[in-house]
Amino acid sequence: MATVALTITTEWRDVAACRDSEPSLFFPIGSTGPAVDQIAAAKQICSLCSVQEECLQYALESNQESGVWGGYAEDERRRLRKRWLAERRRRAG
Ligand code: SF4
Repeated sequence: MATVALTITTEWRDVAACRDSEPSLFFPIGSTGPAVDQIAAAKQICSLCSVQEECLQYALESNQESGVWGGYAEDERRRLRKRWLAERRRRAG
């Protein structure tokens, strides 16, 4: 079984567009009702963030299960991570 090297860094957080945002936008309760609008608002902030790629990479590498990271909601990121892991395993041989 191939091992996957982690390259987790967190310096990008210093310039995150969500630094002063309401946490409930990024970590709503559930995925229906008010959470739909909260997730949309969080994604809008992510779309303007200069470290979106780093944030998403961090979330994938550290397997963040909750919240919006890098412009992806939980269910979207779960599907993306499956593909990301498969690609990393393929590259590791
Ligand atoms: S991409 Fe979104 S969640 Fe990630 S740091 Fe930027 S604003 Fe925050």
